[in-house]
Amino acid sequence: MSSRKYKTPHSYFTRLNEEITWSQILRKCGIKFKKKRMNTELWMICMFHTEKTPSMSFSETRGLYHCFGCGESGDKFNFIVRLLDTTTFYKDNVRAYRWFKKNFNIPLPWEKSNGKYIYR
Ligand SMILES: [Zn+2]
Repeated sequence: MSSRKYKTPHSYFTRLNEEITWSQILRKCGIKFKKKRMNTELWMICMFHTEKTPSMSFSETRGLYHCFGCGESGDKFNFIVRLLDTTTFYKDNVRAYRWFKKNFNIPLPWEKSNGKYIYR
């Protein structure tokens, strides 16, 4: 199951970036954040290391996040994978695909047909 991410069509991740904003993702997660620079940058306290002032930034224009404290960074899919790992200790990307389907109605990048998984 974990090797699936390497077969996922690039269009799946493009769709995540184009259809969902960081604000929507963070709200769904119940995470508090601050907006800066004409609302194109969001800042929050990093959940991957201990800190008192926000050093994790999210760029709405580039679709990426980066923590200036611990160096944690990636795109929207990476963020949800890391978040689920941190909160559930369950290392499996499939949960992230399901998370986007459940919360934003983004179809899973595969379907099951005659007992086989086929990528869309
Ligand atoms: Zn950090």
